Amino acid sequence: MTATVIDGKAFAAKVRAKVGTHVARLKDEHGITPGLAVVLVGEDPASQVYVKMKGKMTKEVGMLSLEYRLNADADEDDVLRLVADLNANPEVHGILVQLPLPKHMEEAKVLAAIDPAKDVDGFHISNVGLLATGQKAMIPCTPLGCLMMLRDHHGDLSGMNAVVIGRSNIVGKPMAQLLLGDSCTVTIAHSRTRDLAEVVRRADIVVAAVGRPRMVGAGWIKPGATVIDVGINRTDDGLVGDVDYAPVAEVAGAITPVPGGVGPMTIACLLANTVTACCRANDLAEPDGLTA
Ligand code: NAP
Repeated sequence: MTATVIDGKAFAAKVRAKVGTHVARLKDEHGITPGLAVVLVGEDPASQVYVKMKGKMTKEVGMLSLEYRLNADADEDDVLRLVADLNANPEVHGILVQLPLPKHMEEAKVLAAIDPAKDVDGFHISNVGLLATGQKAMIPCTPLGCLMMLRDHHGDLSGMNAVVIGRSNIVGKPMAQLLLGDSCTVTIAHSRTRDLAEVVRRADIVVAAVGRPRMVGAGWIKPGATVIDVGINRTDDGLVGDVDYAPVAEVAGAITPVPGGVGPMTIACLLANTVTACCRANDLAEPDGLTA
């Protein structure tokens, strides 16, 4: 069997087009321009690349893009003051503080300062709690992108066995909540899971979010299963996922490539979350299909 390739790059372009259409409608019909503010502290090279890309794509869909750069030696209070200003700024509907923050800052404290309604990363404890209790929340972008691709591929996920490998707060846990919300039977695996291969072999849906190059082999996959590879690992042969792509693609029913799978969906979902936050802030109907 050769798996269907789930093309995250193409899907992300569709999501961005949908966001763009909705942004145009918000401007035309209501005179509102959704705005996204990104805060970058320090000079981490990977973060600089991400922030630049986010700014470019935000502008491409017609939204207001605001960028704030602070020196690596800025005080935590400087960041907290900036977040407070952005919370109060009516032009800003989404706030993203690029992680990691410099070591002398407490990330949890900074994230907790963001207005949950503008928390387009979905990391604020209020949004975590809302998601966990099945209420309307801002959903973390990477798992939201995975869910969109799964829904697009399968339609209804109800009753499927899903195994999420990884239990981080930014990917594994919210991914599991989303799959549970769509009525999957969910197992969360991690570094202490016994006989991981056997656990994964039961899955109709596998989401790998570990950070270990090519860890998931073909022998772990139930024939026909859908495999979503969140991993991004830099190796001597370039960027690879957590899944051993070529052999797994011989067994799986569908698979996301790395690069070109989950990665592009993450930024598309950031834009989607900003539109969703803007609609909620203005008591307007949310576009269909852009959140969970
Ligand atoms: P993380 O915080 O390091 O979490 C990794 C998880 O994997 C942990 O729960 C850990 O278990 C588990 N794990 C480690 N070794 C394992 C093993 N041998 N067997 C089973 N589980 C194991 O990482 P993350 O932030 O969730 O990110 C995971 C991967 O996704 C990384 O490669 C990251 O670069 C990538 N990522 C991609 C995107 C994107 O946009 N595509 C976004 C975010 C992250 P314990 O909890 O027991 O330690």
